[in-house]
Amino acid sequence: MEVISKKQKAQAWLAQQQSKLQCPLCGKPFLVTETSLRCANGHTYDIAKKGYVNFCPQSKSSFYEKDLFTARGQVLQQGFYQPLLDKMVSLLTANLAAATCTHAAFCHTATATAGLSAATPTKTAPQTNSLSAATPTKTAPQTDCLSAAAPLPIVLDAGCGQGYYTAHLAQKLSSSYAFLGIDLAKEGILQAAFYPSCAQFALADLARLPLAPGSVAAILNILSPANFAEFARVLLQPGGLFIKVIPGPSYLQEIRALLGQNAYDNQETLAHSRAHIKRLQEEHLFYTLPIAPAQAAAFWQMTPLSGKKVLPQTAALTQITIDLHLLVGSL
Ligand SMILES: [Zn+2]
Repeated sequence: MEVISKKQKAQAWLAQQQSKLQCPLCGKPFLVTETSLRCANGHTYDIAKKGYVNFCPQSKSSFYEKDLFTARGQVLQQGFYQPLLDKMVSLLTANLAAATCTHAAFCHTATATAGLSAATPTKTAPQTNSLSAATPTKTAPQTDCLSAAAPLPIVLDAGCGQGYYTAHLAQKLSSSYAFLGIDLAKEGILQAAFYPSCAQFALADLARLPLAPGSVAAILNILSPANFAEFARVLLQPGGLFIKVIPGPSYLQEIRALLGQNAYDNQETLAHSRAHIKRLQEEHLFYTLPIAPAQAAAFWQMTPLSGKKVLPQTAALTQITIDLHLLVGSL
């Protein structure tokens, strides 16, 4: 099998999706070269050796950001958010099947994953996921990512962080969708680029997405700020799917308790989101899991709640509550 580099894979992905991309500065279409994207006005964005596109060359990584994403990566890789990942798979397959199913491969995927349920929390600490970005790898990307004859519909993970959901969803659904993860945090995208996945990643501002109007079949916005006007611009109309995940009142309540904080009040974010989402359906994920001391430290460090404070009593953090509110609809 021919081994291709991450940069070559990115170049092929971008060339195939070229008609759906546009310059975030001037809105002109791109010419995709081996090393960059270039618009008619000469704005040029490099494809990094690791395969991501840098639409924000001025962005810098900070030590604080690196620690935060490293801790978050540890928590994610240990499966604490697997139920949310499973839920996203079932929501995507159920909601996009009717809108975009055009070939047998997707129908097969949809059938195979229809039984996945995120609603059943486990009482034991979750297992480490097989697809690991925590350890930098020289593994070549999957070559079958590029086998599709025509450009696949894009699923955008807006505010993808270190790409956990983007990469894992791409692993399950890459025969039907092209996954694009975008974040403004450079450290997140640097870590995302380590995944040996079919997903494409880009460092970009959610307020200026490098995407043409109506170019995206679905937008995922998971525990990340939204820009509804920009999301509505790039989402396919009609038929585009939008999924937003926000914390519920009990989310990480054990950490809040250690910090002396009250339950999280999500009413303002909920009301704001509900006002923007059409044909709205809402779902709730709630589970509590035991955590070991090392996991407690990672949980503590991954959340901006704790700031730069040190975990005061590691032993006191022996379980963690995940409380998430999912809003599903269109824009
Ligand atoms: Zn331009």
